[in-house]
Amino acid sequence: MDRYERVPIREESREDRLERFALIDHPYLLEEAVLEGQRCLECAMPYCVQGCPITQDCRGYNVLIGQRDFDGAARLTLRDNPLANVLCKTCYHFCEDDCIMAGRGIPIAIRHLKQAALQYGKSDLQYVPAKRKEERIAIVGGGPTGLMAAWDLAVRGHPVTLFEQEGFVGGQINTIPRYHLDEESLKIDLARWRNLDITWVTGRRAGVDFTPKGLLAEGYEAVLVSIGASKPRELNIPGEELPGVYHALPFLLAMNAQPGGLFGRTGRRVVVIGAGDVALDAARSARRLTKGGEVLLVYRRGPEDMKATPEERSGGEIEGVRYIFYRAPKAILGEDHVEGLVVERTAHGPPDAKGRRTLVTVPHSEETIECDMIVVAVGEVADVSGFDPDYDFKFSSMGWPEGKRPDWMTDVEGVFATGGRSVVHAMGAGERAAAAIDAYLAKKHGRAPEPRPDPFGGADPPPPTPPGYGGATWTP
Ligand SMILES: Cc1cc2nc3c(=O)[nH]c(=O)nc-3n(C[C@H](O)[C@H](O)[C@H](O)COP(=O)(O)OP(=O)(O)OC[C@H]3O[C@@H](n4cnc5c(N)ncnc54)[C@H](O)[C@@H]3O)c2cc1C
Repeated sequence: MDRYERVPIREESREDRLERFALIDHPYLLEEAVLEGQRCLECAMPYCVQGCPITQDCRGYNVLIGQRDFDGAARLTLRDNPLANVLCKTCYHFCEDDCIMAGRGIPIAIRHLKQAALQYGKSDLQYVPAKRKEERIAIVGGGPTGLMAAWDLAVRGHPVTLFEQEGFVGGQINTIPRYHLDEESLKIDLARWRNLDITWVTGRRAGVDFTPKGLLAEGYEAVLVSIGASKPRELNIPGEELPGVYHALPFLLAMNAQPGGLFGRTGRRVVVIGAGDVALDAARSARRLTKGGEVLLVYRRGPEDMKATPEERSGGEIEGVRYIFYRAPKAILGEDHVEGLVVERTAHGPPDAKGRRTLVTVPHSEETIECDMIVVAVGEVADVSGFDPDYDFKFSSMGWPEGKRPDWMTDVEGVFATGGRSVVHAMGAGERAAAAIDAYLAKKHGRAPEPRPDPFGGADPPPPTPPGYGGATWTP
């Protein structure tokens, strides 16, 4: 086999994709995985590992799979990565972008090899905590940032309490459509937290039921705020409150809970407003709702400005999403249900003071796009209502609150805050925050900060917390 050619990955056909709300990518067969693993060049300088926000040793598991050691590959994967089942299906694989083979052919299918490691290797491994420490730590928010921080602190021996406003943890992972992530994967991963000293408190909302400062007063010695950005940004146009208008996150969450069923009459013509990954997820999910119908994605700028990944965009094209560019929403029409979206044409205006292209609306260019469902996917912001101003959060460009200091501590001593733009970035942020909290507590109690121990209780520790993902130096 030519080393520069990837072992092909099979996908569902267009027809099957629209018929079933199921995974698109098929896993490698065992022999295919071995062949793909053998393509790895075992680079002395593993850019793939360095490009990963959690420095997952992907070079290591590629090589082990090439040697048919699937148990070793699974152990190595899980050593660094307790959300491996989720990531082997959803990660945007920054490792593959940095793979040296990308310059010579097609990068190693590192994400699919992770899946093979877990599928063909012994992967029901349990983590064990190090010797118990006394300092209690609270984590607010159970998305991947909070989960990873809880894991990293608990394997260091800290007792952790994780507070989550919903009745379930996982955060936005729960909104990822079933054609990218099946329901089982998150469940399998979460079971790995079982042996650790973590108290899970669900259905409690910071800012309403308790505050981070209140947790310090109760005796927690450090608090991590990892609440993400899950409040939908609104369009603020007339008609947004009409039945039939959904915001993307509740829409996707409901689709995952009960595909199609919650929406009564399925949309015959659905308009999705936005052009990022979440908008594409909403549009592609809507395609699965509208058999024989139509899904239109409306964006106020052109194709070159779309933020969605190439994979999401081509997925949308294959599945028949129609793109309408240079239209800005102006109003939503309808009496007791949405009937149409009024849009105005847009065009590029003169550059602004910073030289960026501005957008202007074209006078007298209104038109109405008839539809019976609209999904608004124009971003999210953090909801910090009920948090007092003392924390003085800064907000990332994607909305989540962060502490202003390099280690993400806020203006309230002992309270840290962070988040991430993808699952693996969020995990990297959680890992950094855990290291910062451990260092803060070590200093306070006059002991040395602890490196991360081998989470399986052996003598094979994971790599140190990755450099370059610290607050001050990292622009997510
Ligand atoms: C539709 C969709 C698809 C995505 N697809 C992918 C993908 O394929 N691959 C990928 O890598 N990334 C994907 N992402 C991005 C990824 O899910 C996020 O970057 C990641 O979940 C952020 O993690 P987080 O822990 O910082 O925040 P979140 O995941 O938002 O978690 C925050 C948690 O805090 C809780 N919370 C909020 N406020 C409070 C409060 N006041 N009190 C208590 N708890 C609170 C929330 O309920 C939530 O559980 C997707 C996101 C969306 C929305």
